[in-house]
Amino acid sequence: RTTHFGYQEVPVEEKADRVAQVFHSVAARYDVMNDLMSFGVHRLWKRLTLERAGVRPGHHVLDIAGGTGDLALKFSRLVGPRGRVVLADINASMLRVGRDKLLDNGVGDNVEYVQANAEALPFADNSFDCITIAFGLRNVTDKEAALRSMARVLKPGGRLLVLEFSKPASAALSRLYDEYSFRVLPRMGEWVAQDGESYRYLAESIRMHPDQETLKAMMEDAGLERVEYTNMTGGVVALHRGIKL
Ligand code: SAM
Repeated sequence: RTTHFGYQEVPVEEKADRVAQVFHSVAARYDVMNDLMSFGVHRLWKRLTLERAGVRPGHHVLDIAGGTGDLALKFSRLVGPRGRVVLADINASMLRVGRDKLLDNGVGDNVEYVQANAEALPFADNSFDCITIAFGLRNVTDKEAALRSMARVLKPGGRLLVLEFSKPASAALSRLYDEYSFRVLPRMGEWVAQDGESYRYLAESIRMHPDQETLKAMMEDAGLERVEYTNMTGGVVALHRGIKL
């Protein structure tokens, strides 16, 4: 089946392999591409995520699909020496780039690096005060399983924050954004990372991701409560937050 944009839709069973290939391929240039593609704005989206996370000294935090560790780096400073941060990702290349970046930034032994699938987290029930997944959920094959797994390992009272591309609020912005992601992004990926195909996949995966209200309902179905979201950049990105009670 071809999608609205004329690309071949990836069957579910091939999706995990495709995601693995994409992130092995982009790992080394991931940070520089992030800054370029979002004009640096991803830093603001992540800053709001940190503010809403409410992480304090001594907390245990999981950053799943944490990739090159932007959030984990900040969390390691917030939790201090008595706290603990787990930077987890399914992809060994991304995790390696993340670990090297954190070590280069002087991060000590309050951070652990774990290769894990968000759909089946290898942690005990009620382990974390806060879990973040930033630009990761859309790459996960079974999103419901991932949300349930995250809810399971959260402590009662703990927060889950999902930062993800979402649905732009206005039709005009939506058209502009489509042009940008389907025409400009793959070319940028080709020039900068010699990998237009991976960036074409990323644009497509953004378009297939559930919109704000759908994701809110999915979080509620997974057992999270008081779920709310904040649109950023006109709904191009949304930050959802839910609490395990
Ligand atoms: N959180 C980082 C950030 O915001 O810059 C990295 C986001 S990157 C776009 C998406 C990450 O999700 C990749 O590192 C990829 O390996 C990871 N990922 C994809 N599927 C996953 C899964 N099932 N479980 C855990 N991580 C996954």
